[in-house]
Amino acid sequence: MPRDTTDRDPHYNILFEPMQIGPVTARNRFYQVPHCTGMGHLRPRTLAEMRRVKAQGGWGVICTEYNSIHPSSDDLPTPSASLWNKSDIRAHRLMTDMVHEHGALAGAELWYGGHRSANLMTRQVAMDIQSVPNAVGHPYQTRAMDKTDIRNLRRWHRKAAVRARDAGFDIVYVYATHGYLLANFLNPKVNTRSDEYGGSLENRTRLIRELIEETKDAVGDRCGVAVRFAADEQIGEDGVPIHGERRDMFEMMADLPDIWDINIADYSLEMGVSRFIKEGALEPYMDFVKGVTSKPVVTVGRFTSPDTMVSQIKRGITDFIGAARPSIADPYLPKKIETGDLGAIRECIGCNICYSGDSSGTPIRCTQNPTMGEEWRKGWHPEEIEPAASEATVLIVGAGPSGLEAARALGKRGYSVMLAEATRDIGGRVTREATLPGMSEYIRVRDYREQQLQEMVNVEVFRESKLGVQDVMGVGAQHVAIATGASWRKDRYDGKGYVSVAAKGTDPVILTPDDIMNGVMPPEGPVLVYDEDGYYMGGVVAEAVRAAGYEVIMAMPSETVSPWAGYTSERWRVRTHLMELGIGFELAHSLSEFDGETATLTCEFTEVEKTLKIASVVMVTQRKPNDQLYQDILASVDGDATRLPFTLTRIGDCEAPAIVAAAVYAGHRYARELDTVPDIDEPLKHDRVDVGQTPEGAHLT
Ligand code: ADP
Ligand code: SF4
Repeated sequence: MPRDTTDRDPHYNILFEPMQIGPVTARNRFYQVPHCTGMGHLRPRTLAEMRRVKAQGGWGVICTEYNSIHPSSDDLPTPSASLWNKSDIRAHRLMTDMVHEHGALAGAELWYGGHRSANLMTRQVAMDIQSVPNAVGHPYQTRAMDKTDIRNLRRWHRKAAVRARDAGFDIVYVYATHGYLLANFLNPKVNTRSDEYGGSLENRTRLIRELIEETKDAVGDRCGVAVRFAADEQIGEDGVPIHGERRDMFEMMADLPDIWDINIADYSLEMGVSRFIKEGALEPYMDFVKGVTSKPVVTVGRFTSPDTMVSQIKRGITDFIGAARPSIADPYLPKKIETGDLGAIRECIGCNICYSGDSSGTPIRCTQNPTMGEEWRKGWHPEEIEPAASEATVLIVGAGPSGLEAARALGKRGYSVMLAEATRDIGGRVTREATLPGMSEYIRVRDYREQQLQEMVNVEVFRESKLGVQDVMGVGAQHVAIATGASWRKDRYDGKGYVSVAAKGTDPVILTPDDIMNGVMPPEGPVLVYDEDGYYMGGVVAEAVRAAGYEVIMAMPSETVSPWAGYTSERWRVRTHLMELGIGFELAHSLSEFDGETATLTCEFTEVEKTLKIASVVMVTQRKPNDQLYQDILASVDGDATRLPFTLTRIGDCEAPAIVAAAVYAGHRYARELDTVPDIDEPLKHDRVDVGQTPEGAHLT
């Protein structure tokens, strides 16, 4: 039976109080702060449907990502939103109409990049306070803004605010953090201007104050004006703010906007991965904020616990529960709290795969929520799914992320599902990986699904049930999904084939992450952790081995540590953390040979070899799909799947090893597509700039 608000614990009532933001009122305190999506101005339909689902899920405020106010602020290949012209107004309307339809407010974050945007697409000269290098490594410098530039900027900001209002937004932001142009005006180190926009505190805050006033003047009768502001001045030790002048600055502007959106100087803490940063980490930085302003305040903290949320409000830390990631992992988080359905909350695991979409210029995805980003393209919804199209029974072999999600989604559709797992524990790789240093929150991938399965009478879970071909045949299911995962390899891929690194005639100690997760440590050190995977596993395995007391050196063919973790914004912390643990690095070297005493490394650029005295090696390279069962079933009918009495599909790492998000997605997709006939030639709706009707017979070249 669907739950309603009478099922809610009254302790949480405070979260559902309506809140005024200038001329508009949010229905509750759940506030989706601006967050990037990798969609921006490139995929407006995909974006609008995604935000709509959050409005349905009960968020009181739903904001855009950063919204460029002018072509001289362009971030491609990471796609920001834009408010440059009428076409942008129409694109944003898609979102605001949907958000309003479900009773939420829509917010637009106006953005000017300054030295963080190289304008590679628009080829306009970037402007900042001084002529400074591009902050993200492009070989372009900014032009130092003169008075005309500042006047132009103010006009563009005002025009963009009016466009935001005309697009239906209820809240308009002045965005003065995250190292973008306005933050630089505030920064005493960067702002060396000698005119009325530099020098004294009053001068450095002048532009922000002007923009707040001008935005209010332009749209303040209809829209609340928000300011994004950092509570601390510079990055220090985690949890120990260096406020510097920020309090004085904040006092000068305290009651100018209608709401303050507070974040901090260290993005890797604010947006920290769960390996390093836990829930509510911004709290120490908020100590003065509520005491200074009479206006409402929102801040973030990867909040997934309603008790923490209530506590933050009651203790006067914040007025709104700001969220990006918790709203991505569970767009229905407010509704689930509102109806007392707390067990159904899909808690964010803090992996930042969502962020990797934006940083790689691709649409957002989420490890916990496989429907994220697929709301428009595939019509997927996080809480609704087509009922079963038949009375078929489904056997799923393997209860890792892929098998678990397939079972959950099929169970929700109403199918009879048998989920067989070889071991006593379900969860597959996440259960094992969650034992590694810092990785404990990854267990939420299992826990959410396990909890859901417990409520489904039509899903049976069989533990300690390693199935072979005859077992599968004997079950009599109409559909069989093989989700048996993958195992780490002992060899490495040299670009052409898999090669062993063991020197001829030797049998040295070579372990894999599977060994480490099984509790098998090297017999002796020094230990070389060889990382060809490039994501988190190399670092966490190195840390686990180091924690067991060994001397550890990491080698990798890449020029940097954990290169792929740059997309999830965790690389910087990984590198520092491993260095602080005393782990050494051999960058841009591949492991060519190991004889049990000496490891030979080859330089990626010169092929010059060097040797290290090493006793054991842990290879973090590639994985081998555990697809033997799948292959054996096929072999039993000479490879002709049509002769099987069931449909046979391999999903997740068993099909193609990848990240956890891909395995969850594969399981979900299998469940959605069962008993449907997907068009494999044109499987996806394609959201892109539409050239409209072309004249009859027109030849497109
Ligand atoms: P994925 O990420 O694709 O979900 P995992 O490696 O996390 O894959 O999980 C695969 C799961 O399948 C593991 O828990 C493993 O114990 C289980 N498994 C592997 N082979 C069999 C089998 N023959 N019968 C039942 N379970 C199996
Ligand atoms: Fe959370 Fe990871 Fe999903 Fe992002 S991708 S919302 S960090 S679970």
